[in-house]
Amino acid sequence: MATRPILEYPDPRLRIPAEPVIEFDDSVDRLVDDLFDTLYATSGIALSAPQIGDPRQVLVADLSGDASAPEVYINPEIVASAMPGIVEESCLSVPGVQVKVVRATRIKVVASGRFGEGMERDLEGMSAVCIQHEMDHFEGKLLIDRMSMLRRWWVQAALRKRGKVEQDTEDRHAA
Ligand code: ZN
Repeated sequence: MATRPILEYPDPRLRIPAEPVIEFDDSVDRLVDDLFDTLYATSGIALSAPQIGDPRQVLVADLSGDASAPEVYINPEIVASAMPGIVEESCLSVPGVQVKVVRATRIKVVASGRFGEGMERDLEGMSAVCIQHEMDHFEGKLLIDRMSMLRRWWVQAALRKRGKVEQDTEDRHAA
């Protein structure tokens, strides 16, 4: 078990489509543990494997706020969705940015658990929304792609600038 660095936009690894898990071996078990360790070290409610650089269709969520309701979804598929609504989302891989998006607020998900056991869940509200957000990561899609072109340009410029400032600081430390 270990906390892993969360990749941040524009890291190209966030764009790699995730593959389904075929074999539920120890590496999947370890990945799930690492995802929870990493998630619980943040203020986030869900995290997908591509965000820690592992291109497999594994995501974890915990909406309890006190680490008491861990949920694992492997190879999830949304088989029904209803009641679209506008929600404001943020992403651990695009820090400091909030975007209003349209999501279904009720979904039915079919997935595997951490040991490959099949499951089916009816989710609503924030649970439904965060699963859809994490599943976007499996397709290499980021919140920033859902912004208007003008806002995206502005946010990209701000992120670039921040990256430069951090780089300069690191350089000074190194020197
Ligand atoms: Zn995200």
